[in-house]
Amino acid sequence: MRLEVVAEDEGLEFDLPPIPFGAVLDLVVIGCGPAGLSLAAESAKKGLNVGLIGPDLPFTNNYGVWEDEFKDLGLEGCIEHVWQDTIVYLDSNDPILIGRAYGRVSRHLLHAELLRRCQESGVTYLNSKVEKIIESNDGHSIVACQGEIMVPCRLATVASGAASGKLLEYEVGGPRVSVQTAYGVEVEVENNPYDPSLMVFMDYRDFVKEKELCPEEKYPTFLYVMPMSSTRVFFEETCLASRHAMPFDLLKKKLMSRLKAMGVRVLKVYEEEWSYIPVGGSLPNTQQKNLAFGAAASMVHPATGYSVVRSLSEAPRYASTIANILKKSDQSRQNILVTSAQNPSMLAWTTLWPQERKRQRAFFLFGLALIIQMDIDGIRTFFQTFFRLPNWMWWGFLGSSLSSMDLIWFAFYMFAIAPHSMRMCLVRHLMSDPTGATMVKTYLTL
Ligand SMILES: Cc1cc2nc3c(=O)[nH]c(=O)nc-3n(C[C@H](O)[C@H](O)[C@H](O)COP(=O)(O)OP(=O)(O)OC[C@H]3O[C@@H](n4cnc5c(N)ncnc54)[C@H](O)[C@@H]3O)c2cc1C
Repeated sequence: MRLEVVAEDEGLEFDLPPIPFGAVLDLVVIGCGPAGLSLAAESAKKGLNVGLIGPDLPFTNNYGVWEDEFKDLGLEGCIEHVWQDTIVYLDSNDPILIGRAYGRVSRHLLHAELLRRCQESGVTYLNSKVEKIIESNDGHSIVACQGEIMVPCRLATVASGAASGKLLEYEVGGPRVSVQTAYGVEVEVENNPYDPSLMVFMDYRDFVKEKELCPEEKYPTFLYVMPMSSTRVFFEETCLASRHAMPFDLLKKKLMSRLKAMGVRVLKVYEEEWSYIPVGGSLPNTQQKNLAFGAAASMVHPATGYSVVRSLSEAPRYASTIANILKKSDQSRQNILVTSAQNPSMLAWTTLWPQERKRQRAFFLFGLALIIQMDIDGIRTFFQTFFRLPNWMWWGFLGSSLSSMDLIWFAFYMFAIAPHSMRMCLVRHLMSDPTGATMVKTYLTL
């Protein structure tokens, strides 16, 4: 099913009024990705005077979502193609049907919708890159942009994506950053073996019969397939997680040999995608005054690389917290941002990263470290077990909606149904990998 494109935005600079110079804004949101746009719109809806700063660029990522999650956000109109079911192939031609509809987001429609929300709620905009955030003596923050433009505000939130280290402080000594890499192509083909009514979430089958030792062998990869029709298909060769990025030329080579082995003939290439998603790594330092949101705030799910649904669904609550912090500061008729013994931004940080969320993340980091050290056979066994869990468990795992207690049940259930070799692997991992000890410690911290 393809929805008609009903709206095209002209860009942020055309649709949003400019940030007024001289005024002190309540909030500056830095970065115009899904996280920044949604937070800016939600904060302005709460009555804050919000300025958005970042390059005026269209979304380029090919976002995929579970349809029910996007419906819950009222964004089903931004899905351009829905597959009523999703399928996983592990080691044989005996696939697992997931029983859940998957959608491909129209990046143009999503951008247009978030921009419309910004416009309606009165967000102002500056097309620039932020170089640093300076603390001024009166308690305000000065957002210093390229071209020596200074924008004063009461609070600044960094939503400039995964590479935000120059604007934010992160915890020292946290877990290492790993990376999910993928190379995708949208192509016109002959001999597409995939049913166009099903989205292929993972195809881990062997495609090259003779096991030659080639450099890409050490990276276990799978194929992610969005068949738009029987002849137009988006194929993406994906390395779920590795310590070091799998080189794009190897991903491309592996994809092309896989397609060749399956007898797929590429007639035309519509577009290519190079995906590099840092996963894991440290949380931002929650003592700092400047706030963060989206990938900048380490909100990317360590085990799946997804963050869009989480950012969009948490934006309203986070915006309320920011509005309350600023309102309290108004009510006290003194600049609480300077005089309070406790940094009021901590309330916002706690909303984003309460201990409960930290426990969930510690669990996911444990899972990420486990997957990274597995070979292709280990990964297949892992997912065979994973997809035999009750639906609510693995749905919740993939969507970050399981509580830390649910995750304990998840672990016990997984352990109970796993084959002996995987049980041993889980126990070894818990006892020997540092993420095991960190997880136990985080669970025990109140
Ligand atoms: C190719 C690809 C595919 C992905 N697919 C999915 C998916 O299917 N589902 C999913 O949930 N996640 C997916 N992700 C992961 C992640 O959710 C996305 O990266 C998502 O875009 C993160 O949103 P964000 O708004 O936090 O950051 P970004 O989308 O990275 O946006 C950050 C914005 O900040 C701007 N910026 C950067 N530096 C500055 C600066 N100094 N000053 C001002 N602005 C700045 C950038 O120009 C950009 O517009 C994908 C990632 C990639 C790379």
